[in-house]
Amino acid sequence: VARSVDRPVHVYRPSMGVEARRQLEFTSQIREAIADGQIHVHYQPKISLSSGQVLGAEALVRWQHPHYGALRPDVFIPALERTGRIGALTEHVLEQGLRTIAGWLEQQVRMSVAVNLSARSLADSGFPELVGSALREHGVPPELLTFELTESAVMEDRDRALPIVQRLHDLGVRISIDDFGTGYSSLAYLRDLPVDEVKIDRGCIAEFAGSPGDSGLVRTVLALGHTLGLVVVAEGVEDPQTRDALISLECDIVQGYLYSRPLPLDAFGEWLTSRTR
Ligand code: C2E
Ligand code: CA
Ligand code: CA
Ligand code: CA
Repeated sequence: VARSVDRPVHVYRPSMGVEARRQLEFTSQIREAIADGQIHVHYQPKISLSSGQVLGAEALVRWQHPHYGALRPDVFIPALERTGRIGALTEHVLEQGLRTIAGWLEQQVRMSVAVNLSARSLADSGFPELVGSALREHGVPPELLTFELTESAVMEDRDRALPIVQRLHDLGVRISIDDFGTGYSSLAYLRDLPVDEVKIDRGCIAEFAGSPGDSGLVRTVLALGHTLGLVVVAEGVEDPQTRDALISLECDIVQGYLYSRPLPLDAFGEWLTSRTR
């Protein structure tokens, strides 16, 4: 067992567990999967609670794997992050997202797309430049692109992440803090970051939905967010009662199955037209 430590991790060994082998498989296949069109981006609407307007969508990745079928990101993203292969996926989702925004603009639809970033992108000093040229290439106004980053991704290497987030923000891109209410959630670090939006974690919203009278955390995040001049988003909204409770607390934006599941781009377009018809 001790000897295995100094072997490279990407070498297959029969002693590896099924899970470890599968993760190794994912990481070695990702580039090919992208080139082969197995990686799809689904879109889930972000909706203004005050106007009911669809402001944009979050891009959520799906892998149509030839052997394992449709894979949710939680199954393969952690392995890609650990092995440093997440970059190719991030670039692919960014590319698709910008294409989508440009396509909407051609149809006179002005909506934003939010792309999830992992800690790796926040450690890559070349990333802001890549984003800048991708924006120019697609002719997309930077304010229509949002990056969602988790607190833990920022805190993993804070000194490295901060200037990169700052440069992204300087491009005019919007910065959103994902899964807020879990992890650090410290006021101090929100103050240090150029943040435009916070998203209350889905788990917190689920608890809130279970007992909306007990709204302590949601109330606190809304108060904190609004004091700092931030837009506050609630994700994972599944029922009208939760929506109504969020309206009375003056939450800004909602996202969840109540409105729509994440959809392929064409289905998202159909959902949009059926809503406005
Ligand atoms: P997340 O960013 O917190 O995304 C929200 C997750 O909640 C999504 O799961 C979404 O499908 C799900 N969701 C949305 N509304 C509801 C609802 O009303 N009820 C319930 N029960 N769930 C809801 P999904 O698509 O499986 O993504 C899981 C996570 O994978 C994401 O969590 C995000 O952290 C990560 N992820 C997805 N796409 C990407 C990507 O392109 N890059 C990176 N780095 N991470 C990604
Ligand atoms: Ca997210
Ligand atoms: Ca989240
Ligand atoms: Ca999450």
